[in-house]
Amino acid sequence: MPDAIIIGGGGIGVASAYYLDKHGWDVTLIDKGELGHACSYANSCLVVPSHSDPIPAPGVISQAMRWMVKKDSPFFIRPRLDPQLLRFFLQFRRFCTEEAAAHGFDALLSLSRASLELFGELLDTGDARFFFERKGLIEVFLSEQGSEHGRRAKDALAAHGFRSMTLERDEVIDLEPAVAPTIRGGLFIEGEAHGYSYEYVRSLAATAEDNGVTILSGREVSSIHVEGRRVRGVELEGPRQRLDAELVVLAAGAWSRKLARQVGLDIPMQPAKGYSATIDSYDGAPIRPILVKERRVIVTPLDTRLRFGGTLELAGFDHGIHGDRYEAVKRGGCEVLKTPPPMENEAAWSGLRPVTPDGLPVIGRPKHLDGLIAATGHAMLGFTQSPITGKLVAQIASEEAPSVPVEPFRLDRF
Ligand SMILES: Cc1cc2nc3c(=O)[nH]c(=O)nc-3n(C[C@H](O)[C@H](O)[C@H](O)COP(=O)(O)OP(=O)(O)OC[C@H]3O[C@@H](n4cnc5c(N)ncnc54)[C@H](O)[C@@H]3O)c2cc1C
Repeated sequence: MPDAIIIGGGGIGVASAYYLDKHGWDVTLIDKGELGHACSYANSCLVVPSHSDPIPAPGVISQAMRWMVKKDSPFFIRPRLDPQLLRFFLQFRRFCTEEAAAHGFDALLSLSRASLELFGELLDTGDARFFFERKGLIEVFLSEQGSEHGRRAKDALAAHGFRSMTLERDEVIDLEPAVAPTIRGGLFIEGEAHGYSYEYVRSLAATAEDNGVTILSGREVSSIHVEGRRVRGVELEGPRQRLDAELVVLAAGAWSRKLARQVGLDIPMQPAKGYSATIDSYDGAPIRPILVKERRVIVTPLDTRLRFGGTLELAGFDHGIHGDRYEAVKRGGCEVLKTPPPMENEAAWSGLRPVTPDGLPVIGRPKHLDGLIAATGHAMLGFTQSPITGKLVAQIASEEAPSVPVEPFRLDRF
């Protein structure tokens, strides 16, 4: 019998497997599909602690309502009578305050910073081999209002120890000649990173497997098995099978809520769909990631590829790609590039981010059940926060002091 079973082979589950194994646990990692093929597959691949803001913030709801009337806006809610969605909004609204946003930022920043260090360690040891660069992040602004936002952001970032520079249009172009002269200005944040998320997941999983982790792909966990107040293992679909373990880690991304509910655990999460378009790179492509905040679009160079990512749709578990919103992601990225990208070998993708009402992940043990750790709900930051989440899971499981305070991420906070 394995000591630990992990449900979900995305960035969070794979890092949990890797660190649990390092802590001496005998681990089995189970995924209903292929490892890394869900939300960790074609996201925007940024590792940017400076952008550790939780989704709920003052003004977010009114901005979202204004966007709702535009068919190509970066935000959409599919109208439906869903009591869970209604409850999610009521809870979400409570966190749209300055105080909650500041608290959320500090909590998420501690995870993101610790993770950035761990990415360095994983690369140095060769335990994860993947495209990763620390060339900073450029935010470009299209209007005077945007540039004003940049100036304010610089001060706020400095207060958190980030080094950044506000840039005039020509300075942006000197730094990143791929940017079009139609932009107004920019903000450059030093030390930020980007890396190929899918390559990271696959590489870390391969190392974990070499170290002895058992990986079961294409097997769905239908339920978590409980006896009394103790988790005993999981039930698998097709062929039906029971697998026992001392510890079960729930890292099933956007799908975690359903499994949690079966064992009386309420994790109020919604799947929040985003899109990306990945093309072959070309002469004159950017070499640093570019955030176009006014369009809510990120352009990420990934070695031989270039990716445009964005949008947030609350449309349930639907992976469908809405043409107008997908085109708007590409348009928003192309708008700031000097050379129009040849859209060669374009790969369209959608992924479901696991989002909680306060925008923070849940990492920890439930009070009413032994033998379970939840590690999910990482919203926009699941790639960034994958290594530290895996390490925290291993530390919690092994009853070691966590390297980052985990109180803000406890399960019973809603
Ligand atoms: C457009 C877009 C851009 C993004 N950009 C960034 C970014 O720049 N930086 C960043 O840090 N984050 C980014 N994110 C967020 C990030 O992709 C997610 O937070 C992260 O991938 C979540 O990882 P996860 O392991 O929790 O979930 P997933 O990667 O979705 O993995 C969950 C896994 O669980 C498996 N599973 C589910 N149910 C079961 C079951 N019953 N049995 C067995 N297996 C199961 C699934 O098959 C899946 O493989 C972005 C997301 C999107 C959509």
